[in-house]
Amino acid sequence: MNDSLRILLAVQEVDHLIAELKSELATLDDGSKIRSAVFLAQSEIEKMKASAHELEKEIRDGEWEMQSINSKIKTLEDKAFSGKITNAKELSAIEADIEALKRTVGKIEDRLIPLYDQLEAKKSEINDLQVKIEAASVKAEKLKQSYESKSKSINEKLSQFEQKRQEFAKRADPQLLRKYEQIRSKLARDAVVPLKEDKCGGCRMSLSSIAISSLKDDSKVHSCDNCGRFLYIEE
Ligand SMILES: [Zn+2]
Repeated sequence: MNDSLRILLAVQEVDHLIAELKSELATLDDGSKIRSAVFLAQSEIEKMKASAHELEKEIRDGEWEMQSINSKIKTLEDKAFSGKITNAKELSAIEADIEALKRTVGKIEDRLIPLYDQLEAKKSEINDLQVKIEAASVKAEKLKQSYESKSKSINEKLSQFEQKRQEFAKRADPQLLRKYEQIRSKLARDAVVPLKEDKCGGCRMSLSSIAISSLKDDSKVHSCDNCGRFLYIEE
């Protein structure tokens, strides 16, 4: 193989390794997706807690109201059964008041029952979400740690290969290297390809027998007439 081409092939091999490492780095999960989900869930839990506090307050107010009415009922009942009230009209008026107050208590109770259920459901929802958040936070932390160690090792290799590439690039013919880079950026594929079954290993165009026999001349650098890639015969 032509020596100038051999250097380009070495550059290409290092470029392959660099590309592999970069794609490996890009697919690593650093846990940031889970972390932002945790962040969202935390703000969701704050909203749920605020709504649970509202419910608790509504329940407390209702209970306080009931307590105060019940103590009024107690006072009225004490008064009615004390024997001090002898007037039947007055007694039946007190009894009517007691009945009305008991109906009010009943209404408050009816209003509170679904609130107790709602509060219980809300608390269990908060609890479930809290457990999920904790598990997700642990997972995010593990991913972050593993990302840090993996990316550190990949970046170390990457800088070694990049250094190696620079060394090869310095040894390459500047004009050929420029052409190599143009082809790679244009075709996003290999710029130095072997002859395969009498065809260009890049674009698969068949080569004439004259072109094939001229490829054997190592003193020159050969290119495919169709795609411009550098061609060589595999040793
Ligand atoms: Zn070609």
